[in-house]
Amino acid sequence: MRKNIVAGNWKMNTTYQDGLALVSEITNMVQDEVTGPNGVEVVICPPFPFLFAIGKQLPASSRFHLGAQNCSEKESGAYTGEVSAKMLQSVGCEYVILGHSERRQYFREDDELLSQKLKAALAAGLKPIFCVGESLETREADDTFNFISKQLKDGLFHLSNEEFDQVVIAYEPIWAIGTGKTATSAQAQEVHAFIREQIARAYDAEAALNTTILYGGSANAQNARELFSQPDVDGGLIGGASLKSRDFTEIIKSF
Ligand code: PEP
Repeated sequence: MRKNIVAGNWKMNTTYQDGLALVSEITNMVQDEVTGPNGVEVVICPPFPFLFAIGKQLPASSRFHLGAQNCSEKESGAYTGEVSAKMLQSVGCEYVILGHSERRQYFREDDELLSQKLKAALAAGLKPIFCVGESLETREADDTFNFISKQLKDGLFHLSNEEFDQVVIAYEPIWAIGTGKTATSAQAQEVHAFIREQIARAYDAEAALNTTILYGGSANAQNARELFSQPDVDGGLIGGASLKSRDFTEIIKSF
């Protein structure tokens, strides 16, 4: 079933101590201020070393969930420095971000590798937050829809219906990530509706209706309400603003 989700991607930021303080501020503010029927799920995605402790600090409620920012495509074994999906699940993660443009760009993660990571995450019982999004060059060449359609086909649509049910999609135009340049709500809605249409073609109308599609890219306390009011925008994947408890809480309150 489609949900409203606000996920905070901390990226490689904070120390352990700062991370604990940040999550404590966020949970207190959200618990004090988000009381009504706002059913939004909050997913906190800190760096690997803090996952277990931060997970322990999340209130036991259906509101808060723990997510990782990446996982290995391998199940286990001699892969020095890697972190498996099963490890993440064992420390309390429910979600894992896969295919973030920073991983695609700086760590050369391609559709083939991402397909394997998706399989590994799903096999371990994690829900992938799968990111897609075009560069400025692609947008200016008027090739956004082709590009997104290819990312979905090559990276995601190999999953079975049951596997696809577990997936959240994040539309993150690269030109909007960390740049302060947000997509307009019309631009976001247009691509979200297109993604839903592609899901209906690859799977069926019910899958399209039930898939949660988040927007990411310089979303903040000022623009979240407008973005989230679009019919096909089910929430946000938030980078910079998730590191500020007040801003992140205001984004959650935007529903
Ligand atoms: C992100 O990295 O997923 C992101 C959306 O970052 P920002 O909100 O800082 O643009």
